[in-house]
Amino acid sequence: MMKLVLDPGHGGKDAGAVGNGLLEKDLNLDIARRVAGKLAAYNVDVALTRSADLELTLAQRSKIANKLRADYFCSIHTNSGGGTGYESYVFTGAQEVTENLRTVIHNVVASYCKNNGFVDRGKKRANFAVLRDTDMPAILLENLFIDHKRDADKLKDAAFRDGLAGAISKGLVQAFKLSLKQQSEKTPVKTAAAAQPSQASSFLSAKNPLAPDYVDIYVRLGQKYGIRWDAVFAQSCKETAFWRFGGDVRPEQNNFAGLATFGGKPGATFATPAEGVEAQFQHWHAYYYGGELPTGVKNLDPRRDAVLKTGWAGTLQYVEDLGGRWAPSEGYGTSIVNHYLKPMLSQQIDRWNPVEEIARLKKDGLIDSDHQPGDPVTWGELATVINRLRGK
Ligand SMILES: [Zn+2]
Repeated sequence: MMKLVLDPGHGGKDAGAVGNGLLEKDLNLDIARRVAGKLAAYNVDVALTRSADLELTLAQRSKIANKLRADYFCSIHTNSGGGTGYESYVFTGAQEVTENLRTVIHNVVASYCKNNGFVDRGKKRANFAVLRDTDMPAILLENLFIDHKRDADKLKDAAFRDGLAGAISKGLVQAFKLSLKQQSEKTPVKTAAAAQPSQASSFLSAKNPLAPDYVDIYVRLGQKYGIRWDAVFAQSCKETAFWRFGGDVRPEQNNFAGLATFGGKPGATFATPAEGVEAQFQHWHAYYYGGELPTGVKNLDPRRDAVLKTGWAGTLQYVEDLGGRWAPSEGYGTSIVNHYLKPMLSQQIDRWNPVEEIARLKKDGLIDSDHQPGDPVTWGELATVINRLRGK
């Protein structure tokens, strides 16, 4: 399998370029993580020289790639010095193969930048240490200027950075003809829920008839955070033992996901069930979308920073990926899927209840008397019902 090293420039005490309230090291890391997340669907081994805010020397960066015997090295930077736009670099003495790979990647990224109104400053060469000292073909991207107001405004926009990471990934996919992984058996998170709300309610009440029904809250927050609510609800069923609790968390904490519970601590407490569920969604959001909450949303999750520090923030794709991250057990996410989500999805909702249907017609004023489900209907009765419906 192809081995790729992504190198988010700078880090730790070395902020890199600074401007318009932004630090280069943060942008580089955010973009590199997003690229890694997007490439997770492809047949490629991706390693990052740093996945957190760490200081690394230039020599350490090339050494990591050389030790891994990587096939390609991609260093991600943000420019400064008074210009605007995008440019890329290869080593001054780069071979033809390096130049050809660069051309493919450069063109995809440049076209994304151009579509967003930024100039392509060109394909450049330089004697940069990470380009010189890496044993494999290497590229260094300078993604817009941190000290240029318009560039910085775009770089502040998570959607733009995500698109930029998408363009870099697309360039890498094209340059190395990366194939998609076999259709995953895993359960994607950033997609519509597969369950009907009624399936979730009936699954829960079958397991615990006394459980409160907060399904509507999960459905609403699933929309808000772009996360399938049925998986999050399945997690709560697991964490609360179907709202029976009995572990370290008490019901009145409104903490349905064991947030901040470890070492026997009771964990976080939330003012309302809705706030507790929202904090849970925000915790998922950090794992699956990374650093920024949707605009105007205030953080309720007490463990948000802990996720952001893991280096996994924004890189997860599947429910199963939560294993070893949300909880120490490797099988944590798989258990949510196999023991809670799948049985929920197999709930049969009884839609055939003729007695109830007739009662509803009477209640809504479409018929006047009680009827047995087996009674024949006359044309006079049918016409009356249709006309009453037409009058509504
Ligand atoms: Zn830099």
